[in-house]
Amino acid sequence: MKYKISLLLFLTTTLAFGQFNFTKQFNTLNAGQRLELSIPFSDHLGNTADLPVILLKGTEEGPVFTFLAGVHGFEVSPIIAVQKLVQEIDLTQLKGTLIVLPISNPGSFYNRTPYKNPQDNTNLNGAFPGKKEGSITLKIAHFITTNIIPLSDVFLDIHSGDAPEDLIPFVCYYNNKRQKENTAVAKKLSEVSGFQYIVSYPYTISDTEPAKYAFKQAVQDGKIALSIESGKFGVVEDEAVELTRQGVLNMLNAMDMYPKNTSPHLNPIYLNHQRYTSAKMSGLFYSKHKAGDYVEKDELIGYTTNAFGKTIEEHRAPQAGIILYMLATPAVNKGDNIACVSAAVEE
Ligand SMILES: [Zn+2]
Repeated sequence: MKYKISLLLFLTTTLAFGQFNFTKQFNTLNAGQRLELSIPFSDHLGNTADLPVILLKGTEEGPVFTFLAGVHGFEVSPIIAVQKLVQEIDLTQLKGTLIVLPISNPGSFYNRTPYKNPQDNTNLNGAFPGKKEGSITLKIAHFITTNIIPLSDVFLDIHSGDAPEDLIPFVCYYNNKRQKENTAVAKKLSEVSGFQYIVSYPYTISDTEPAKYAFKQAVQDGKIALSIESGKFGVVEDEAVELTRQGVLNMLNAMDMYPKNTSPHLNPIYLNHQRYTSAKMSGLFYSKHKAGDYVEKDELIGYTTNAFGKTIEEHRAPQAGIILYMLATPAVNKGDNIACVSAAVEE
């Protein structure tokens, strides 16, 4: 309680000066301290948001592990998994510090909108590195890039299928050949996570190209970074929540930060070659497939009709492989991703 009063005083002070010194807050944490911050954002359009951040400092020194949920605010299984984790972590058993963003995109979460923050019609996962003087989503991206990522040793961005998406749970990382040690740790953390599907993406951007995605930004900035995808359809799925919760604990254990872990998946499946098919027409989407199905190249995944029931487009598998995620609700718009089909190829 005493602590809460001092935090309130601090917020009042910093707001008066129009600045929030996050790094100073982080650097003055005491061993065994839990600090809850609501960081205020506002933009020239009149939008406001309070970004919740939780700092958990263990009683022993160790790495800084950041995890965030709700970059897509309608992806709620990750958000609930993070709520469970921040309640259960015992600081007397933690070595190092956790930086937790439980709802990274408050505008999208509270308005219950998939993909984009309706305040500025912007997708946070596409906005990195962000802009100091941009609209609210760009400001949040900029804050994460300039304040959260630099403090992090490991950066884990937790997602699920969004409102219209079916998805099988997987863990993923970038195969960045320019930072082999970081890539090896990201792979190792993926392998211990307990997820069956371990997916890598090629990393081909330059050091100055916009990274767009949160965990790609962290890779570009020289950090160990990875992502979890678990859950779908904008509902809380207990099984998806538990996979994520256990996955984070397993990663912390592998970093020698926390004692609780479960064994890796007994039958891991490695995938490294993703191909996508997208809609050329808007209409109504139909499919008999679901995420996790194996499809042959050119196999029919689904089709689109116009509003009068006439088939106007067929969607075929771009390669043989497993459907990692796919559109699974009727509305389809020109340019929408229909499916991601993933396979393993020799490098
Ligand atoms: Zn997402």
